[in-house]
Amino acid sequence: MTENTSAYHPLTVEEAIDVARSVTNVFYPTDDLICDEIGDGNLNLVFRVRLAHSESASHTPSLIVKQALPYAKVVGESWPLTLERARIESDALLFQGKLVPQLVPHVHYYDETMAMTVMEDLSDHVIMRKGLIEGNRYPLFADHISEFLAHTLFFSSDLGMNQQEKKLHVQRFINPELCKITEDLIFDDPYTNSPNNNIDEQLLADHAKLCSDHKLHLEVALLRQKFLTSAQALLHGDLHTGSIFITPQSTKVIDPEFAYYGPIGFDIGAIFANLLLNAAGHEHWSHEEQLREVHRNYLLSTIREIWNRFDEKFRSLWDEHGVDRISRTKGYQDLYMEQILQDTIGYTGSKMIRRIVGLAHVADVGSIPDQAAKLRAQRIALQLGTALVKSNRRIRSIEEMFTICEHAY
Ligand code: ADP
Ligand code: MG
Ligand code: MG
Ligand code: MG
Repeated sequence: MTENTSAYHPLTVEEAIDVARSVTNVFYPTDDLICDEIGDGNLNLVFRVRLAHSESASHTPSLIVKQALPYAKVVGESWPLTLERARIESDALLFQGKLVPQLVPHVHYYDETMAMTVMEDLSDHVIMRKGLIEGNRYPLFADHISEFLAHTLFFSSDLGMNQQEKKLHVQRFINPELCKITEDLIFDDPYTNSPNNNIDEQLLADHAKLCSDHKLHLEVALLRQKFLTSAQALLHGDLHTGSIFITPQSTKVIDPEFAYYGPIGFDIGAIFANLLLNAAGHEHWSHEEQLREVHRNYLLSTIREIWNRFDEKFRSLWDEHGVDRISRTKGYQDLYMEQILQDTIGYTGSKMIRRIVGLAHVADVGSIPDQAAKLRAQRIALQLGTALVKSNRRIRSIEEMFTICEHAY
């Protein structure tokens, strides 16, 4: 590496170009390169390096350099955040890349001192949240994401990994600072008058109800307990539709800096919550009830397909690659899958709630310009989220979730 990288500092665009040129052989030494900082996320710098004179942006060599800042970009230097998250992210991408290389960006290089990862440029994909707001459909998504979930979760769990090796893996992914963000923003702030909350005036009365709903708090406390204590599998940890790049043919999961060992249902619930939030947002984005219903049915059948395929793939990985005898006990697999389903429903609900009243909203609902439509979408999300959280421990099959959803929209 050059002398620039001897101590940590935020990269300039010139340095990002130097890094992209020197650590990969994607470019020729004589290539004239340009670079833009394109990050739209909350936490990090993202540079895109490409040829200066190229006709079509999508078919020429290019790279992404992602660098962690020692604080959260969205808040500023008053919210310090460990650079260690860049190591966790590149480690998680490498682990996932061994299992499902077609579903994550290829990592070319990682530099610990500079907390930066050089990876494949996925600019020919779109961020799924944007695509769904536009009303697009992705017929292969359920198959792709269930593949991602089944492989990454099974092979990092005690079912698919030797238990001694797994404990060392848990240790590598201890991620206290980023977990703390989740613990506060998802499992605490939305149910109190925390200054972290971001609540529209028109929702103050709805929020007051959340704050005094004892039954709801009890379920949230149990979900939080599991998030704090269950080292079931290596989670992505932030698997919303803004962490998914997509085209009709291809799905790529990015941004696993929140990765840690936690309950499997947390990752599946993140996907379901974001699909249901999108359905709520279509109170505005689809202007007629008929279009809205078609889009909603598409999203609900995607959720059904994700669950059913995940269930099938996880069980067959277990049957084929399970590492021990006692976990083959008749009936155990059914109980295990039922527990994942219940957790999934609980985390789905809690993630919907926090995106309406907590710190970070989603564009599907938050960016609706029409106040009346926005309020309808917000209330749908809050009511459905609350119903899912409250019912999670009673649910026995995914179809029961759809019965609850039918009452919400
Ligand atoms: P953060 O952790 O700050 O949320 P992300 O990894 O989500 O950062 O990236 C933020 C944005 O940068 C993405 O929404 C996307 O627009 C762009 N980006 C990130 N990784 C890539 C990539 N591999 N290829 C193309 N664009 C990317
Ligand atoms: Mg992100
Ligand atoms: Mg693909
Ligand atoms: Mg991130």
